[in-house]
Amino acid sequence: MEDRKCAECGTTLVGRSDKKFCDAYCRNSYNNKVKRADEKFIMDVNRILRRNRRILKHLCPQGKAVVRKDILDQLGYNYDHFSGIYRTKLGTYYFCYDFGMSPFIENSIKRARIVMKQNYVPSLDLWKVD
Ligand SMILES: [Zn+2]
Repeated sequence: MEDRKCAECGTTLVGRSDKKFCDAYCRNSYNNKVKRADEKFIMDVNRILRRNRRILKHLCPQGKAVVRKDILDQLGYNYDHFSGIYRTKLGTYYFCYDFGMSPFIENSIKRARIVMKQNYVPSLDLWKVD
């Protein structure tokens, strides 16, 4: 029979074949590590979303604005993360909470429309075919 080792400390396990840890201490510290790693990812994404929102709010004090992509880049906007999406005939808005940006190109310059979310945003039908 193959040696089974504790998932936390690597000690060879004896006893029940479904045992994964030597004791409650190892089980707890293993589970805590997994939980921390899980929560770290969520916290990192939340941090990015907050910073994105702060950038959009800063650039859009009147509730509507158009900016060059360069400006967003300089401020460290992260395009990979958003909390909501809203499609219009003119483009797609990527929201970070209550502020959204919609990329477009005009005179070969990359720009973005920024808007503050209205109270009413229709809910999505993700399975709708255009
Ligand atoms: Zn152990």
